[in-house]
This record gives sequence, C-alpha cells and structure tokens, in this order.
Amino acid sequence: MRAVVIGRFGGPEVLRHREVPEPEPEPNEVVIRLDHAALNHLDLDIRNGRSGMKVAFPHVLGTEGVGTIDAVGARVKGWAVGQRVGTFAFRTCGDCPGCRAGRENMCARVTTLGGQHWGAYAEKIIVREHQVVALPDVLSFEDAIASYKLATAWEGLVETAALRAGESILVTGAGGGVGSAAVVLAKHLKARVIAATGSDEKNASLKALGADEVINYSTEPMTDALERTTGGNGLDAVFDVASGPNLLAGVQALRWGGRAVVVGAHGGERMEVDMVDLFRRHVSIHGCGRYTRAILAGVFEARCKDLPKPPVHAVFPLAKAAEAQRVMESRKFFGRLLLKIG
Ligand SMILES: [Zn+2]
Repeated sequence: MRAVVIGRFGGPEVLRHREVPEPEPEPNEVVIRLDHAALNHLDLDIRNGRSGMKVAFPHVLGTEGVGTIDAVGARVKGWAVGQRVGTFAFRTCGDCPGCRAGRENMCARVTTLGGQHWGAYAEKIIVREHQVVALPDVLSFEDAIASYKLATAWEGLVETAALRAGESILVTGAGGGVGSAAVVLAKHLKARVIAATGSDEKNASLKALGADEVINYSTEPMTDALERTTGGNGLDAVFDVASGPNLLAGVQALRWGGRAVVVGAHGGERMEVDMVDLFRRHVSIHGCGRYTRAILAGVFEARCKDLPKPPVHAVFPLAKAAEAQRVMESRKFFGRLLLKIG
C-alpha cells in the first residue's frame, strides 16, 4: 500500500510518499482502508522531534482517519469488513483507574495513533478493536473527518466547562481546527462567543461562522479588547488552544467563578499565574481536550441533526501531505486541513 513515511526528524521534506508492506491485523486488531485523514499540529511536533513521544523509524503520522473496514483479526467481535468507521486516536490500557472508571480519555498508559503507532497518512491503518467508531450512513467521509475537532471542543465546552446558553466565552486561536470547531459548538450551545485570532481575514470568517465579537490581538491588546467586548462584566468561560499571554488575559478577565479550559500549550509552556487572584475569585483553569469514543460518536450523531460542520480550509491528496503541512506551518489557513486518500 501507499503511505507517507518519515525516516528521520526534520522539516516537511522528510515526508516521503512511498510503498510500504500491507498491514496484517493481530487477533484483536482491525484494518481500515482510509478515505480521508486530517492534519494536526501534533504531526508537526512529532515530525520535528519535539513531541516527547518515542518514535521508531520508519514512521507514519496522523491521528485521525475515516474509511471502510478492510480486515478484522480472528478474535474481533462487533466489527465486520465493509463497515464505514472512523479511528479513535487513543490506544488505552483498559485497566488503569481512569479506564476502569469509564474515563478512557484519562488513561494513564495511553498511546496515540501517529505517535507511538503508525497513523493515518496511509491507504490503510491498523487499530485495536476498541479504537473503531461507527459512522452514521448519512454522514459523508469528508463530513465525518471534518467533525473530529468538535469532539475535542465538546470535551472542553460541555464536559469540562459546562458551558450554558447565554454565557460569554472567549475562544483563542479561533482560526485553527480546534478553535473554529469550538466557535461552532459554542454557538450551537447558544453561548455569546468572543473569538480571538491575529488576523482580520480570519476574524471576518469567524463573524460569518457566527462569532458575536472578534478580537485581533496583533493590533489590539487582549486586556483592552476583553474590556471592550464584555462591557467590563467579565467572561463566564475561556476556551484556550495555546496557553501563554492570551490565556492569562482571558483568566484575568473571568468573572468570579469563571472557568478556563486549556487544550494546548504552543503559545507558552510555562506561565505565571496569580494564585491569590485565582482562589479569591473562585476562578478555575482545567487541562482537557482528549475525548472519549462516546463523545466522538455523539458528535457524529449531532452532526446528522443540527450541529453545523466546522470549516475546512483545504483537502490535499495523500501524496501532497508535505505541502499540506507547509500550509499548517504558515498559519495561513482557516479551519481544518485534510488529506483525501481513497
Ligand atoms: Zn488505562
């Protein structure tokens, strides 16, 4: 089969589209023939050697893919060749306190597709049987792959921040895949959404997506912008994709009892928080973002009803994965970058 393989750490030039051996499933594994895959910032971190994950070469990137079951191992029950499915990125142990409590997104021994295991930049992928999620018949493969970040947003907005209708929320990095999905979901939950990016062009797209207010933090200081957009009343919640100064400004702008959820740290892995202010105002900051199979399946169901599709910036053929990663590195995109494989 064809796959995009890296043989060493480096820039996009290390991605090679080439022939690799056909995957053979173990008794508890499923092979999926992929129709689409999606790009994540994690792919770039792994490719650059900055992810902290142990990677064995040759390696295939990609945490998310959708397609059709191509083969099942001898002991697999409940899945059959020909079923339309998506990957669940996380290989969990099933035995740690998180797994035993039914919170597989908090598995202490989790490993990830495209990280410790070959990922979805390929015609086929091998996953454990628990890493398969069924796709509703009416949801196209492109619709399904474009919906994955709604699951990340759901874990943050619904499960963690418990966002309610009428509440105000700041979404940082709102032009990216996760941020734009969070804007879509927050509007679906009838929240008042303040979306922040460093680009007027992205902000125009966010307005079109339903954002009530937009902030360009490259031209207006976040503190001033939050004062302006909240009328000085403070935020109920923050959904932050990057940590760093924007998160700090958001936390400072939270009302008493406000909640911040954080799903990334590319904007600053270390930051100084005024803990006196935090406890005095009953403000909380939660790390989150990894979703469960149930959340992903719920997102697919909701997409069949009234949950809108998050934006897709572009779809590249698998052979052009390096070009797609260059676009991601340029930051000049809005929404998700996808690969068409099948
Ligand atoms: Zn576990």
